[in-house]
Amino acid sequence: MRRYLILGGTAEARALAERLHALPDTLVVSSLAGRVRRPRLPVGQVRVGGFGGPAMLAAYLAAERFDAVVDATHPFAERISASAAQAAELSGTPLLVLRRPGWTEREGDAWHWVDDLVGAAALLPELGERVFLTTGRQGLPAFAECPQWFLVRCVDPPEPPLPARHELLLDRGPYTLPGELGLLRGHRIDVLVTKDSGGPLTAAKLDAARELGIPVVVVRRPATGAAPVLSDVAQALRALTEGDD
Ligand code: NAP
Repeated sequence: MRRYLILGGTAEARALAERLHALPDTLVVSSLAGRVRRPRLPVGQVRVGGFGGPAMLAAYLAAERFDAVVDATHPFAERISASAAQAAELSGTPLLVLRRPGWTEREGDAWHWVDDLVGAAALLPELGERVFLTTGRQGLPAFAECPQWFLVRCVDPPEPPLPARHELLLDRGPYTLPGELGLLRGHRIDVLVTKDSGGPLTAAKLDAARELGIPVVVVRRPATGAAPVLSDVAQALRALTEGDD
């Protein structure tokens, strides 16, 4: 029996869980942080909640005798990725990182790259007064002191502090081009702020911004560690099952 732990919370993690689950003599456990109220659940076994840091994750990997751990978390989930790298080393468990590619700028785009959300907030005065903020609910305090008006879109309600002038839109992808065009036009948006999350499910906002000539502030991804990084599910599946009969 081959045993895999997938650190998840992404579409790629769910897709990999499904592919591994379909293999004979294979146990797949997906791990979710438990941040989202109604998470999309992968097939196979699921555990929810933090491990309590790298040492505890290492102990779990060893106790459950996983053949490999896959870090398929979101590109901006830095702490769990660092924890996975340490825990893999501590427990001697092979680690694979599955990370979808970032987005690439295309002709007609007006992208402004920044290192973090504070950098994004600092750029806003020169880019516009009405902001579509799509960076998720966790980093919103970076915008709390901004005088601009914000359309804040996230999956679950955020905790304060929030920008003084904002409208909250609770929603989750996938989003469509007509839908995103309607939002940008309807709210007279001047500037879009996004993380470089990559992937097709939330990319329509970038197409909409291009079509309307709206500038986009893009937060760069944090660096990855030393483990091999694969960018799609089929590659990850091959790497995990290489050498199996
Ligand atoms: P984070 O800052 O990297 O992690 C914070 C803590 O949450 C970790 O130290 C760990 O707790 C726990 N944790 C995170 N992911 C976990 C997982 N898959 N399984 C078990 N514990 C986990 O992560 P985050 O940015 O809060 O993101 C949380 C989850 O949401 C991630 O799994 C990620 O894939 C998903 N997500 C994040 C974003 C984003 O923009 N950051 C967007 C979409 C989805 P312990 O130290 O106690 O183990």
